Amino acid sequence: MSAARPTLVLVFQRTTLPWIFEAAERAGIDLVLVPRPDEEIAADRLPPAVVELLPLDPEGDRAGALRVLRARHAARPFQGLATLYDPMVPFVADAAELLGLPGIGRDAALGAQDKRVMRERLAAAGLNVPRFVRIDGPDAEPGLAAAGRLDFPVVVKPAHGFSSLGVTKAETPAALRAVVAGVRRVCAAKLGVADAALVVEEYLDGPEFAVESLAYGGTVQVLSIGYKGEPQGPYFEESVYRAPAELPEAVRDAVVREVVAAHAALGITDGPGHTELRLRGGAKPYLLEMGARIGGSGVSHYVASRVSGIDLAAEALRIAVGGAPSFPLGEGLREPVGAAANYIVPCGGHGRITALHGLAELRADPRVDHVVQMLFPGDVVRPHPDFTGYPAFVISRHAHLAEAEEFHARLDRTVRVDYSGDTAS
Ligand code: ADP
Repeated sequence: MSAARPTLVLVFQRTTLPWIFEAAERAGIDLVLVPRPDEEIAADRLPPAVVELLPLDPEGDRAGALRVLRARHAARPFQGLATLYDPMVPFVADAAELLGLPGIGRDAALGAQDKRVMRERLAAAGLNVPRFVRIDGPDAEPGLAAAGRLDFPVVVKPAHGFSSLGVTKAETPAALRAVVAGVRRVCAAKLGVADAALVVEEYLDGPEFAVESLAYGGTVQVLSIGYKGEPQGPYFEESVYRAPAELPEAVRDAVVREVVAAHAALGITDGPGHTELRLRGGAKPYLLEMGARIGGSGVSHYVASRVSGIDLAAEALRIAVGGAPSFPLGEGLREPVGAAANYIVPCGGHGRITALHGLAELRADPRVDHVVQMLFPGDVVRPHPDFTGYPAFVISRHAHLAEAEEFHARLDRTVRVDYSGDTAS
């Protein structure tokens, strides 16, 4: 029977985050894992769904990585590719297109990954878009001059950014030049990109939401809408994620309409979608970005599946290997069946971590399914904008939203990171 099992190449997924690996087992799909360059993986401790490791360097040698995939496919065909890592979405779409495998196509992937292209395509489709300006190439002057005519405050961000890397608010035209230079410095240091392409766009005042969706044959099923806090900047650390969000029906409908229309505008007809948006004035949805992938390295699967009852990651994998979802998709939002939350432990400072309080005891809480710890005592957290990452995620299930809110209010009081000023290595 095993010969009939589909195989999927999964690019750059951390093995410490379980959701997609467990979903592959449920969907009966074998995984060939392209390991992340920054993760050491013990071959004897692979998730059960992983049948092979295939080291590739798509960031350093894209053509070489495509050659290896082509040879692997010729020798032993696989049925699809996927990634949850945003910068790899275009590579995966490209490889799928080259090998004649299912995918969103390189053009749609470009629109979903390059914030300049995304803004242009959403605007052309008549969706709500803040006024924006591109800054391309080594000469920032023309872009700076045009950006100076936007309404301030504005937000400056890398065109190919992810995880809020470098994203910075500029309050006044006078501050813009220094902010642009700062964002480019972060791109040079963190992404190795000189004179990185940037987007400058008007600041959207209002609460932030994440929308998880699954598309098949152009039908977009919205699985959940969750509240993401209201970060004010100047830097935009993630803080909470609680779903389903409590919204007036008309606003919820507007959010669903905007997200479905964005799929069409960007040509994302099949597979998972992770959309972030703000409600300007608390009511009018403006997309921040839409990813053609499962969000949060898989956290979005956890949230969407608890809230909607749909196994997002397993369904996404089925679609990625050319199968059909196991349930009939309907256009629009599914009725929630539960609540879920992610508490992103704030750094709350910088320096060398001496202690993380309040986390260990959470593992025994029956509502907590995962405590994903990324930083430990001894690690150094650098100040913004040179952001290090988040100390931990606390991922929990709840009967309803109010319980999730109460739980997070308690974590605000009990979870804390201590630092010493000593950062010498
Ligand atoms: P990334 O892909 O790096 O996460 P985003 O465009 O999603 O970049 O921006 C990261 C965060 O910055 C958002 O979640 C939001 O909080 C904030 N942000 C970005 N653009 C704007 C904007 N135009 N108005 C208000 N906040 C913004």
